[in-house]
Amino acid sequence: MYLREPCFDLEELVKENLHVHTSFSGCAKPEMRVKLIVERARELKLQRVALVDHFNHSDTPMIEKNMADRFVVKLTGTEIPFLFGAELSAYGVGKWLDNDEVNRALDYRLYAANHYHLEIWEQPEEKTPRGYAEHTVKVLTALIEADRADCIAHPIYGGYVRVLEDKKALAAAMTDEELYKLMLLAKKHRVAWEINVGEALADPELTKRMWRFGKEIGSVFHFGTDAHLLENMDTRIHFDELHKLLT
Ligand SMILES: [Zn+2]
Ligand SMILES: [Zn+2]
Repeated sequence: MYLREPCFDLEELVKENLHVHTSFSGCAKPEMRVKLIVERARELKLQRVALVDHFNHSDTPMIEKNMADRFVVKLTGTEIPFLFGAELSAYGVGKWLDNDEVNRALDYRLYAANHYHLEIWEQPEEKTPRGYAEHTVKVLTALIEADRADCIAHPIYGGYVRVLEDKKALAAAMTDEELYKLMLLAKKHRVAWEINVGEALADPELTKRMWRFGKEIGSVFHFGTDAHLLENMDTRIHFDELHKLLT
């Protein structure tokens, strides 16, 4: 489900940070304690925050973890709306690690479909930019059609593909028709696209393309910094660069 109406005003989008990891994610810093995240969100005057820890194993106790986080946020008395979700794994065509019970229990289902660096991830037979682009189209089509995603994390970006030297080659190998059709499908199923600061700047061509197509289609973009440390919860760090890119 969309969290908002289509919006192409970056100034508005950066009021929310919908991609924050807690120390539950092994890759996040120990300082990412829920209480400190709330304090930081207050300092930054964020209007909404989503906690989305990695779901890289099918037995990840995400429901219990989210219940505990929800309680801790409530104790702080903050008025900032927090969403207790997960960064789920669509690790192949029609494959995801979460079951329906987990999926239904989450406030926000942010799916990564391109964590190709993980061992569990399905790889295309043809390990070329085009091979990965075709695989990405299939993975995202099946995921979107399954109606279990609210948003796609760092979409289409090839940064996690070990065998690709040029990380921008994956997206460049996806045709405009393929990308447009994917974005139309997401619109039909009310699945948003993440503007993930790091990836958005690492592949500016892709970011510009998705923004342009999204404006045409009326897509919804959600903003997230993929924060693994408190400092990176600030959604405005690269505002000027991003703004330049998207105008
Ligand atoms: Zn990710
Ligand atoms: Zn993440």
